[in-house]
Amino acid sequence: MKIGIVGLPNVGKSTMFNSITNAGAECANYPFCTIEPNVGVVAVPDERLEKLTEMYKPQKTTPAVIEFVDIAGLVKGASKGEGLGNKFLSHIREVDSIVEVVRCFEDTNIVHVDGSVDPLRDIETINLELIFADMETVDKRLDRARKNLKADKKYQFEIDTLEKIKKTLEDGKSARTLDLSDEEKEVIKDAFLLTMKPILYVANVSEDQLLDENDANVNSVKEYAKQDKAEVIKLCVKIEEELSSLDGNDKKEMLEALGLEESGLDKVIKASYDLLGLMSFLTAGEPEVRAWTIKKGTKAPQAAGKIHSDIERGFIRAEIVSYDDLMREGSMTAAKEKGLVRSEGKEYIMQDGDIVLFKFNVYYIC
Ligand code: GDP
Repeated sequence: MKIGIVGLPNVGKSTMFNSITNAGAECANYPFCTIEPNVGVVAVPDERLEKLTEMYKPQKTTPAVIEFVDIAGLVKGASKGEGLGNKFLSHIREVDSIVEVVRCFEDTNIVHVDGSVDPLRDIETINLELIFADMETVDKRLDRARKNLKADKKYQFEIDTLEKIKKTLEDGKSARTLDLSDEEKEVIKDAFLLTMKPILYVANVSEDQLLDENDANVNSVKEYAKQDKAEVIKLCVKIEEELSSLDGNDKKEMLEALGLEESGLDKVIKASYDLLGLMSFLTAGEPEVRAWTIKKGTKAPQAAGKIHSDIERGFIRAEIVSYDDLMREGSMTAAKEKGLVRSEGKEYIMQDGDIVLFKFNVYYIC
């Protein structure tokens, strides 16, 4: 599961990417923070893990992780081969969701590729390139589906779906703005449309704009995002850069001094995890406290399979206590005494923050 960071040059992408991987390294001690210069594995901030670590004092704590890719090189005309052109677009095709950094900060020392700070124009520049690329994909698919229709009538459904998407793209809108049925989504799934991917806008503001709840630039991004079915997170990349170099208490002190509850990057990482349709269940014991990543809607045996395929195969039941119940009671024994540890079967759909012990059989097949 990968998230691509995109944006025009000089909007703060690389600074944000470096801060994210830096912060991840600080809090997670994760050994593979940067896989390649532009790919980073990042720990998903989760205060539940901190609290469980205090309770269990385990030998190690392992957070959930996600992967960010810094996709540089988008300029006007990329869909027609300008700049890194198609290479850039194929990098986007490979990610599961997109974080688009939008410059809202004024700084005459930092050149803007289009000469002035105008978040809406920048968003439109980028999104139009993605729309153009999708139009090409849709046209190719339409040609193919029309040919196939002669032999098989079932292709009419694909043609209708593609035409609907084409119309939306021609109106300058992303494919994600359409309300498609599950069948329609299925039929165009393997087209990997760029504008179908979930997107999160990051409004990169100056320190002064950060506490201003009514900044015109940020408001314009919010307005755009609403009709693009997307969320907006406001942050100051410069401050995040500083925060990412601090740990624990120093970071908390700086956040307090700035009047912030949480770092913007932590918000971006959490929102990206959510955007990917992911959530965590937790295991807690003396050897390890750990967050495991699953897709929302996953059933207990498949969640067990994340730990080991044998546990999925031999699944009997899952003993589950919710994080809130465990914290309120103070220990697993106390939670058990109150009857708060449930026994769940194969059809149980895992909930975010479930603390789990799987019971399983191991079968030996000769
Ligand atoms: P990229 O081309 O989008 O990857 O942009 P960079 O992250 O390389 O940033 C370009 C320049 O803008 C660097 O000199 C950054 O220090 C600067 N920059 C990034 N974010 C901010 C910000 O919030 N405020 C100010 N004043 N400068 C910033």
